Amino acid sequence: MISRPAHSSPPLLAAIEAGGTKYVCAVATDPSQPLLETRFPTGDPQETVARVAAFFHEASALHGPIHSLGIGTFGPARLDPAAPDYGTILTTPKEGWSHFPLVTELKKALGRDLPVAFETDVNAAALGEARYGAARGVRRVAYLTIGTGIGGGLLDDGRLLHGRMHPEIGHLIVPDLDAAYGKGTQVCPFHTSCLEGRASGPAIEKRWGKAGHELPGDHPAWELEAAYLALGCLNLTAAWSPDLLLLGGGVSQKEGLIERIRNELQRLAGGYWDLPPMAEYVKLPSLDQQAGIVGALVLAREALGE
Ligand code: ZN
Repeated sequence: MISRPAHSSPPLLAAIEAGGTKYVCAVATDPSQPLLETRFPTGDPQETVARVAAFFHEASALHGPIHSLGIGTFGPARLDPAAPDYGTILTTPKEGWSHFPLVTELKKALGRDLPVAFETDVNAAALGEARYGAARGVRRVAYLTIGTGIGGGLLDDGRLLHGRMHPEIGHLIVPDLDAAYGKGTQVCPFHTSCLEGRASGPAIEKRWGKAGHELPGDHPAWELEAAYLALGCLNLTAAWSPDLLLLGGGVSQKEGLIERIRNELQRLAGGYWDLPPMAEYVKLPSLDQQAGIVGALVLAREALGE
């Protein structure tokens, strides 16, 4: 806990949404209203860290000293502060990033030690939605993002759940529903039939030869997509029993898809669970593309013990 005189201005928070394709950096005193923001393509680690540091030095010159840093990174990453390699990116196909000690290198580039909170990008987005978005005030939240991959985060009474590492909800195993459509697409190199392999954006594109946004709303692609995603929602319901399932990411935005998922989940649930009405149980996030950076700013605030 950092103590400040009551009359002082609120602390300046710094945050990074460290994606595999782009980095977003921001500073704020109120996480929901960034004062300054920048985004650039993710390069090699050294170059990327140098750009981050340059932005924060510039932001600091304008808005004063930075008090803490929140990071939501692409994974896998070592989130456990007790681990010797805490703050490191683990084995990743992303060139140059495997075992890169991101937190240590950022502190070095910023020229000082400061309180840091380190999470996955998906967990950061889940936290952003929980504090300022569609999951505000909800006790138990399962957040899924369906886009280039499928990821997920779980919040219990406002706290992110980590498990031994972090949830990999995209790799829940699902039955093969492709066969009924004369298809057999899956894009995960590790599993025969997982959610990400069957229902991510690249799976849709490979299966139907067109990206999701090019497929009309009445295309059979969406019936199949809804069936896979409803299975993911059903498995999360069985394993975790949330109050709310939030479906983020580009694919979820497809017009009519969420209604199809709700109908299919209702059918699959078979009356076994006492679930809220589907329109309240399965929802779209409300912060859109800002969820990750807002969540990373929330992490920075929490790193101060606030
Ligand atoms: Zn998989």
